[in-house]
Amino acid sequence: MKRIISVALLIVMVFSLAACSSTSSGKGDKGYVGIAMPTKSSERWIKDGNFMKKEFEKQGYKVDLQYAEDVVENQVSQIENMITKGVNVLVIGSIDGEALTKVLDEAHKQKIKVIAYDRLIKKSKYVDYYATFDNFKVGVLQGTYIEDKLGLKQGKGPFNIELFGGSPDDNNAYFFWNGAMSVLKPYIKSGKLVVQSGQTKFEQGATLRWDGATAQSRMDNLLSAHYTNEKVDAVLSPYDGISIGILSSLKGVGYGTASKPLPIITGQDAELASVKSIISGQQTETVYKDTRALAKQTVKMVQAELEGKKVPVNDTKSYNNGVKVVPAYLLQPVSVDKSNYKSILVDGGYYTEDQLSK
Ligand code: BGC
Repeated sequence: MKRIISVALLIVMVFSLAACSSTSSGKGDKGYVGIAMPTKSSERWIKDGNFMKKEFEKQGYKVDLQYAEDVVENQVSQIENMITKGVNVLVIGSIDGEALTKVLDEAHKQKIKVIAYDRLIKKSKYVDYYATFDNFKVGVLQGTYIEDKLGLKQGKGPFNIELFGGSPDDNNAYFFWNGAMSVLKPYIKSGKLVVQSGQTKFEQGATLRWDGATAQSRMDNLLSAHYTNEKVDAVLSPYDGISIGILSSLKGVGYGTASKPLPIITGQDAELASVKSIISGQQTETVYKDTRALAKQTVKMVQAELEGKKVPVNDTKSYNNGVKVVPAYLLQPVSVDKSNYKSILVDGGYYTEDQLSK
């Protein structure tokens, strides 16, 4: 008899444990969210995905989170799978902003809502909302940093600069570039900034898939072709992974010594390696975008949409995707360098001192 009772108890315990774990893993009844992220090769997207998954599950949603390793076809088939699985909403950080038209037609047929996450999805009318940062401002912050550090406003110069852009299939890359150039162009025109390579167009500076190695080899070429008798004073870099590639190239030809100091190098995302590089005096600046805040904002937007409430947006003009202007919510980016990383990143809980000192 005792044995039967303990077996019965065990069964009850196992069942209640299973029930617990399914609620805590977010298999609640609020809805099913498909999150399609571009790649795990950059830290920021891992953080975005994890924050969102946690936040959605906390609110009682079930989540399918997928990464496509920067292969467009992978992302399309992951989204197709999510549609088949019956998600209610898709949150997509696209790889190629123009490659999702067909799959979003399919999502629309199944009445699935679509939120473009961080990167605009172009050429589809079935993008309901866009959650991102003020991408033009990101570029303005990078450009202004260079302007300040070189003392351009005070009339100093001329200085040599080289310009790097992001991936040409990512709409953000144009916003970053245009934002930065809105500050730098007048100085290029006046001759206070000199681009020795003459490569001043986005297409010339663009870096497919934001690849650090691609940027590094472009920098190698620029240095050997144009800087054997000149030195670079500043490099506009749109993203930390690219900045690290540029730094390797510079160090490879002897920059980073007292007689040949490293140029000012911007960046974006406050990735761990770059923040450490800033602390050690190599990369100069990065633009921090709090991915926790973007994840939270996205969850709010999805929730409002699924509950038939008014979706919070603060920009209904800037993001025309070629078919419609997508209503967006823009968060504010922050410029970070050696002087403020502690107050922004450590006090803000993005990194611990320990992570940064290892
Ligand atoms: C994001 C940036 C990121 C870049 C490379 C852009 O779309 O907005 O934060 O640095 O992609 O991943």
